Amino acid sequence: MALNNLNVLDIEAKHEQDFRRTILVVDDEPVNLRLLGNILKDEYDIAYAETGDEALLEIRTQKDFLSLVLLDLHMPGGNGYMVLDELKNNDELSNIPVIVLTSDNSAEVESLRRGAIDFLNKPYDRPEVIRARVRRAIELSIDRNIIDATGKDSLTGLLTKDYFFQYAREYDKFHPEQEVDAVVVNINKFHLINELYGRNYGDKVLCTIADGVRSFARGCGGVACRDHADRFYIYIEHQDNYDYLTKTLADRLIDITDKHDIHFRVGIYPDIYHSVNLEQRFDRALHASNSISKNSSQDVVAVYDNSMHEKELYEAKLLDSIEKALLDKQFNVVLQPKYDITGDEPRLCSAEVLVRWKHPELGFVRPDFFIPLFEENGRIKELDRFVWREAAKQIKRWKDMYGVTMPLSVNVSRVDIFDPDLLDFLQGILEENGLEPKDMHLEITETAYTDSVITIVDVVNSLREAGFKVEMDDFGKGYSSLNMLTSLPIDALKLDMGFIKGIAENNKDLSMVEFIVNVARFLEVPLIAEGVENSEQYLLLKKAGCDVIQGYYFSKPVSTSEFGHLIERSIER
Ligand code: C2E
Ligand code: MG
Ligand code: MG
Repeated sequence: MALNNLNVLDIEAKHEQDFRRTILVVDDEPVNLRLLGNILKDEYDIAYAETGDEALLEIRTQKDFLSLVLLDLHMPGGNGYMVLDELKNNDELSNIPVIVLTSDNSAEVESLRRGAIDFLNKPYDRPEVIRARVRRAIELSIDRNIIDATGKDSLTGLLTKDYFFQYAREYDKFHPEQEVDAVVVNINKFHLINELYGRNYGDKVLCTIADGVRSFARGCGGVACRDHADRFYIYIEHQDNYDYLTKTLADRLIDITDKHDIHFRVGIYPDIYHSVNLEQRFDRALHASNSISKNSSQDVVAVYDNSMHEKELYEAKLLDSIEKALLDKQFNVVLQPKYDITGDEPRLCSAEVLVRWKHPELGFVRPDFFIPLFEENGRIKELDRFVWREAAKQIKRWKDMYGVTMPLSVNVSRVDIFDPDLLDFLQGILEENGLEPKDMHLEITETAYTDSVITIVDVVNSLREAGFKVEMDDFGKGYSSLNMLTSLPIDALKLDMGFIKGIAENNKDLSMVEFIVNVARFLEVPLIAEGVENSEQYLLLKKAGCDVIQGYYFSKPVSTSEFGHLIERSIER
């Protein structure tokens, strides 16, 4: 096993520490003992034994000092196999490496199977070869012991990622033709498990998954590790299906989850010729796992396929063009009207500002595709700031033109929450345009709240203290507990459109909406419904007590000039 730099240092330190190592030579023929002793005595201290029983006695008393045993197989008084079996089955002794001494070729495989790490053929006519193999055996065992001590993840006992990749690379080297699978296992909504049930329970879940992953990997002759948090990697020979893995994990989870469902997702990248590098293969397995909804209430397996590859290429192209797109101002904003429906007639009360990107080669790119990409690549701040500034300028233009202030709501990415200049920037653009904070509403997605409760509560509190109205976007997607909701600072709930889709056809969906209307009442905030597409949905929502509606039923997102006309008309009424 090759070592990385750090471990080489560790080993050197160890070499220096106990400079001369001890080797036990076991053989019933004194001439052999003398011969081996003479070959090795310049470099090592030598202990001798002439029978298996004597050898075991010696090993037990010297166990902390022995670096290697050279073991003859055929001896009176307990043969070599007996010694091997004793060592293998004793945790305290199983770390001591053994090289068997034999003139019988057929015994080699059997002794390796019983735990020997190498063999030397009698007669001993090539001292150099013997010395080299002894040296190598000792080094290998030090590697292994260091891996045992430091290459393990302290929580789960699985390998660390570094060692895992080292193993996997070695495996590839020796098995270039073997089809192998890179497998990633993630737990759905793990941070919520931690938050709702406590870290100890979270750790228990991780250890349970780790046990399952380990036992599956071992059973298939592979290795497993924990990358970080709730992400596990497995590297094994290609499997036709992963039913056994999902069953192993599900069975173990059942033992610890009596009332709550914990689910996981598995992504797989099979690769017959190791054509892409190891890290890339795990990236692709991760990609496959990320293609599965994190909200799934089932355990799902996804295999990386061509469509995922195409998507990755498309993403890479978009990533390459972000810089230029920002410089060339390829973005513009559209507005989707919001109507207050609490009175007899719907009344235009605001609009959501939505960004649009027309890529010079790829054409129109969907925001739900490029926004996450900008978020992941640290560019969302620039884009959002551009959108917010456009919004502020637009409110000011209409204020000058029509003498009314039409508040606009802008989306604030979860990433913006961590920007220490957020409040200053927002206040700055409002001041530039002679506006007040209440003129700009901020939509923050519910999942941002559930992802990082503490930071967001602080930030939202300071925004609200400064006078901004904060709307919780896509409510219902993020699993806020009722308990959590009552302590969250917000000015409006914006229902996720998934809830609206089925209300006309499905009583259960309608009851859910009615329930959420009650939650909004309880929190004393208005309920906004988005994605309302037809009159049935509109009427049901009105009847249920929803306050504001946004959706294709009233209007698709429109240009700023079209929205200007809508304001004009609403003033004329
Ligand atoms: P969102 O904030 O939940 O925005 C609502 C999305 O629903 C918009 O999609 C809108 O066009 C769409 N929509 C509105 N009414 C209907 C309807 O009746 N039926 C259907 N099927 N869809 C409707 P869009 O513009 O594609 O935006 C998608 C998401 O991208 C937004 O979801 C928001 O999360 C994000 N986004 C858009 N603009 C910005 C932005 O400037 N900054 C940030 N950070 N995120 C943005
Ligand atoms: Mg929004
Ligand atoms: Mg939304």
